[in-house]
Amino acid sequence: MRIHVTYAGGTIGMVDSPDGLRPGADMASWLNTQFDGIELKGHVSMSQLSPLVDSSETTPIHWQMIIDDIRAHGDEADAFLVLHGTDTMAYSAAALSYALADFTKPIVLTGSQYPLGVVGTDASANVTGALRAAGSSQVSGVTLFFGHMLLAGNRSTKTSSWAFAGFDSPSTLPIARTGAPWRWYHSVEAGEGWANPTPYARHDVAVVDIVPGLSAARLRSMFTPLPEAVIIRAYGVGNIPASDPGFVDVLQELREAEVPLIVASQCHQAEVVLGHYEAGSTLARLGAISAHDMTLEALYAKTIFLLSQGLQGEEFAQWMDRSIAGEVSLPGIA
Ligand code: ASP
Repeated sequence: MRIHVTYAGGTIGMVDSPDGLRPGADMASWLNTQFDGIELKGHVSMSQLSPLVDSSETTPIHWQMIIDDIRAHGDEADAFLVLHGTDTMAYSAAALSYALADFTKPIVLTGSQYPLGVVGTDASANVTGALRAAGSSQVSGVTLFFGHMLLAGNRSTKTSSWAFAGFDSPSTLPIARTGAPWRWYHSVEAGEGWANPTPYARHDVAVVDIVPGLSAARLRSMFTPLPEAVIIRAYGVGNIPASDPGFVDVLQELREAEVPLIVASQCHQAEVVLGHYEAGSTLARLGAISAHDMTLEALYAKTIFLLSQGLQGEEFAQWMDRSIAGEVSLPGIA
């Protein structure tokens, strides 16, 4: 078993500085100590992004750098590990799952809440757990290992800024849970895949949370200049204050300008059903697109992916109702 590690940054490899934590640990040497006495010793290669980033600095260009590194080492390893900051790890995991849907080897992302040099760090447990997952014949696709859980990458979300169990996949079961032996619950769901994806580029996507009392004027200002797509994080199954005529006018203007309007939910565990309530049926009439049960991370990365492929209009909308890499449960596909 050969493993290639792409080190992208994050707390796991940070050291103290007068301005707070910043990348600086000797990751290659530390990784070597993790392999002492195990059969992987000598079978692990590593490359790192330059510069290493706090993952809050991540853009779609960084997603593409990780993808390029994995593809460049595609023939040299049997499984791939990505060391990543926790803040946007779920976004990157989803982004990788779409662009590497045709990649047949397992890719596992992990990071940690404490840097590797701190007594009591979760770095060792997460890296060795991710290695165990990567080396298992039961895993495929893009997964995220953190705090004893292996999750489908494009179903995961960061749920805690401090707990060692910092991630969850609210709409699907975990893939596995550690223990002696590990418990395996299900496989990463397959999707339709995507052949020869165009590299990720930055796109202007507005993500707006609806809150009680949000005015039409404030809403309109959020869409100036017009974005390429809008993700509305509505209530429950996809409800908005539709009895405010000004509010609906703003959304209508977006549709008239042919800006895709995607409706997600603020609930961590949701199934968006537009038209279930009167408050959501206005969105259905406007031709809004349902995010179904996608996490914000999976939905945002998918929106950027589809825009990077040059999709617009009906074609763009249709792919929100189709699964590229298991990121969405569709009505009728249980
Ligand atoms: N800000 C850090 C990052 O996302 C947090 C972490 O890695 O836990 O890079």
